[in-house]
Amino acid sequence: MARMTIRYAIFPADPGAHLFQVTVEIDAPDPQGQRFTLPAWIPGSYMIRDFARNLVRVRALTGDGRRVRIGKTDKHSWQCAPVAAGQSLTLAYEVYAYDLSVRAAHLDTTHGFFNGSSVFLLPAGHEKAPCRVDIFAPRERRLRGWKVATGLAPARGTAPGAFGTYLAADYDELIDCPVEMGPFAAEDFTVEGVPHRIVITGRVAKLDTARLGRDLARVCATHARMFEPRTRRPPFERYTFLTFAVDSGYGGLEHRNSTALLCQRDDLPHVGMQSATEAYRRFLGLASHEYFHVWNVKRIKPAAFVPYDLRHENYTPLLWLFEGFTAYYDDLGVRRAGLITPEQYLGELAATFTTVLQRSGRRKQSLAESSFDAWIKYYKPDENAPNSVVSYYQKGALVAAALDLSLRAATAGRRSLDDVMRLFWRRYKLAGTEYAGVAEEDIAPAIFEATGVDLARPLRAWTRETADPDLAELLAPFGVVAERGAALESAHFALLGCRIGGGAEARVSQVFDGSPAQAAGLSAGDQIVAFDGLRAGGGRIDAVLARYAPGDRAEILAFRRDELLRFEVELARQAPVKWKFAIDPKASAGARRLRTAWLGMA
Ligand code: ZN
Repeated sequence: MARMTIRYAIFPADPGAHLFQVTVEIDAPDPQGQRFTLPAWIPGSYMIRDFARNLVRVRALTGDGRRVRIGKTDKHSWQCAPVAAGQSLTLAYEVYAYDLSVRAAHLDTTHGFFNGSSVFLLPAGHEKAPCRVDIFAPRERRLRGWKVATGLAPARGTAPGAFGTYLAADYDELIDCPVEMGPFAAEDFTVEGVPHRIVITGRVAKLDTARLGRDLARVCATHARMFEPRTRRPPFERYTFLTFAVDSGYGGLEHRNSTALLCQRDDLPHVGMQSATEAYRRFLGLASHEYFHVWNVKRIKPAAFVPYDLRHENYTPLLWLFEGFTAYYDDLGVRRAGLITPEQYLGELAATFTTVLQRSGRRKQSLAESSFDAWIKYYKPDENAPNSVVSYYQKGALVAAALDLSLRAATAGRRSLDDVMRLFWRRYKLAGTEYAGVAEEDIAPAIFEATGVDLARPLRAWTRETADPDLAELLAPFGVVAERGAALESAHFALLGCRIGGGAEARVSQVFDGSPAQAAGLSAGDQIVAFDGLRAGGGRIDAVLARYAPGDRAEILAFRRDELLRFEVELARQAPVKWKFAIDPKASAGARRLRTAWLGMA
């Protein structure tokens, strides 16, 4: 029997008021009374967000126009009264959409964007039913030029990129295909014949879309080639990068055949730009990250996500594999695509190593614990986060690097972490609908199966315990020298061991464990007003500190709330360590071979 199709319609009814109008219609509602639910979170962003808070005026009607009683049973569920047999049921509601992030929905007179998880109610029991969505254009004359970009497949009769009808195989696909509508810029390119498109919303002067297409094509091809060395094809029919260029902001969310990216407009290349600026390299790293997720987390998944339960937290100890390994391969992919130099890549890796080692949180929380508690810690950081949390992105990336380097060194370059990722990918493809996801205890045996190298003990120490992967030592066989230097970017970080916000007020934002600031009693939120009797606000703190030497003593006056407090501080004798990874020009031929196999040719 053909499954009943769920019919959705969405209309940017009032861009000025940020309101989408949405309907969902089903033919054979539950005779006991149909229930509808909205997800509490969106996959890829591990925090309860309660999208239902933005639904307004939810009404229910039968096919012949009769009102149906409807009420809520919990924060994201609605219960309808039974309707007569043979009657269809339609819910109509508005969604307030004014969250300019990649996670929710946004509508104004410049564009509209939504994730299905923010706007489409699921009729309970119909998770597997096919869905169709009518996406309507805004009514206003001045918004006539709007187009559509989405990973959803257009139905027959709807041209790709036009307003009209789109299809999804089930609810999971429906909410995994965000939709952008507006007068965006776009560039098309292909990877092994598979169409790809990047659309850019937001004003960007002299945007070089051709370069974006060219560079992204190389990054995408690099990842596809790694997972599918034979066909080199990515696992979908088309892919869309939805990009919002804004004044400030950074982030991305991965989907099965698209991604939503938020970047600063200055991150994007302009016509005539010569080399890749640091900002553009950061954008390429972000795009590379989300594209790698096509395999790692959108298809290869932690067991806890098969299937997702969108009503509440889904706990997994493995975000270090799904986010951390992806963070390792994002910059590495940009390097292997030839868009940054080996030296630039090693610079990024050293920066991650430095950041992880500077924070004492890594001694108090393992990667498995950090993954498990992402919902209440990593996604809800407070001023003490560096002292209490380890990032499963950053330390996870170091673990990936450490595994990769260990495997390459142990096999004279014949095996690597790429083989492990391909093994996970093969297992996903072989399992089909039986796929059970990756369990923690599968990982060390999978590494052994793919490479013949047993790394169970270090893996456990790095992920279940709090050991640091020693990249400085692991890089040596690759002709890369690790150098310890001093982190001197700002005098207050080096000498006081805290972070102080910019701007007119010298306000302490973070105090690091074991620092002079902490020993003196300075706290997050304190506003420093004087240093040894001289005014220290107005961005002056670093200039004042520059005249002092390690170990000097000084007096700090600071406001805590509205109380003026006095602190005696002894400046740090040693600045925090900053690592540098440099290519050794005198490395042996064997070391050079290993490095080239890892990072590609210079
Ligand atoms: Zn990610």
